[in-house]
Amino acid sequence: MEELKPCPFCGGENLKIEDGYADCGCWVECCTCGANNPFRHGTHSEAFAAWNTRAKDKESEILLSALEQIGKGDVPVNGVSGLKFIANNALDEIKALKASK
Ligand SMILES: [Zn+2]
Repeated sequence: MEELKPCPFCGGENLKIEDGYADCGCWVECCTCGANNPFRHGTHSEAFAAWNTRAKDKESEILLSALEQIGKGDVPVNGVSGLKFIANNALDEIKALKASK
């Protein structure tokens, strides 16, 4: 069985696979925050692959959020360049995300 990556929303690792009725398909759900695959999948392995893609999306989310903040212009944070602060923050978040995988 493939390994599931932690929840992209809460970082939770308590995940379960849910099987729908009849041919409704299956999906992965986070037992901590209730996040689940937006689509139903025919096989567990498809559901797993889709879930793990969402985990990857979290990295893009962090980067996009950093870029949006940078786009607003440089505002000093605690006396240092806000741009440097934002970039380091995003890097730390991504490093933490990768370390938790
Ligand atoms: Zn979660």
